[in-house]
Amino acid sequence: MIIDVHGHYTTAPAALGAWRDLQIAGLKDPSQTPRASDLKISDDEIRETIENNQLKLMKQRGSDLTIFSPRASFMAHHIGNFETSSTWAAICNELCYRVSELFPDHFIPAAMLPQSPGVDPKTCIPELVKCVEEYGNVGINLNPDPSGGHWTAPPLSDRSWYPIYEKMVEYDIPAMIHVSTSCNACFHTTGAHYLNADTTAFMQCLTSDLFKDFPTLKFLIPHGGGAVPYHWGRFRGLAQELKKPLLDEHLLNNIFFDTCVYHQPGIDLLTEVIPVKNILFASEMIGAVRGIDPTTGHYYDDTKRYIEATLKLSEQERHQIYEGNARRVFPRLDAALKKKGL
Ligand SMILES: [Zn+2]
Repeated sequence: MIIDVHGHYTTAPAALGAWRDLQIAGLKDPSQTPRASDLKISDDEIRETIENNQLKLMKQRGSDLTIFSPRASFMAHHIGNFETSSTWAAICNELCYRVSELFPDHFIPAAMLPQSPGVDPKTCIPELVKCVEEYGNVGINLNPDPSGGHWTAPPLSDRSWYPIYEKMVEYDIPAMIHVSTSCNACFHTTGAHYLNADTTAFMQCLTSDLFKDFPTLKFLIPHGGGAVPYHWGRFRGLAQELKKPLLDEHLLNNIFFDTCVYHQPGIDLLTEVIPVKNILFASEMIGAVRGIDPTTGHYYDDTKRYIEATLKLSEQERHQIYEGNARRVFPRLDAALKKKGL
């Protein structure tokens, strides 16, 4: 089985974006604020957007199941206040849940949280609980920078994040550490802000003792870990100077990386530097990079090709990356599959 742990509903019907535009307009002119119930999207519309996009590509490329969360750049936690994010997160999470109900063999949901700059993260818990208990979500996306590129929130090791971690541990769900749109002109959203955040989150964990407080807490750092695998020697050396344990022990029981790296040498490096047990297959398809690589003739985000082609991996190791590790890091996914006899 091939499980893609990083997919977003980037192709949601246009009505979703139109509703969001009205919600944003309502921040200046409250008379425009739409109600959640004003958004009408039919099952057929959802089917069409999935069958002609993600599902079509999954079949072409040979992946079976995608962990599916709301479009990351649309989370835009910096817009409005908690109420804004709360209504928006509820709508987006419900849509991903509906996708998982319409295509139960191919999609299982992960939740965005109603984060908002300067607002206590524990306010996200009711939405998290609903998504796990009612919608069967197997993970969450946690934004380490709800300000959208200004980094006004404390680091992930700060105790203000702990109520979310306590809930994650209780439910045994991992968090993908995932920022959203950059509203800082210095940082391009997917080319700079995403990769910066991946690297920053790793370093925040490295300098802290977060996983001493939460030995079973699991973070998935997307986009191949940003700059982390490439600079592994730097991180090892910094940990050593800080008198931290070796990274294997200090971080690699808790931190995992996905394979959203869009060229062969990148995947070769990732699989050489990072232990196979810490790598999970993902493509983030129909995401940041949608074109075809002229040097290969294949889509950049067809990451399965690179996993297949790398000489670093045995068949057993490929299986771990495609399926075994995802079942271990997402125990609720494993339980859902076992319930179906898979
Ligand atoms: Zn993503």
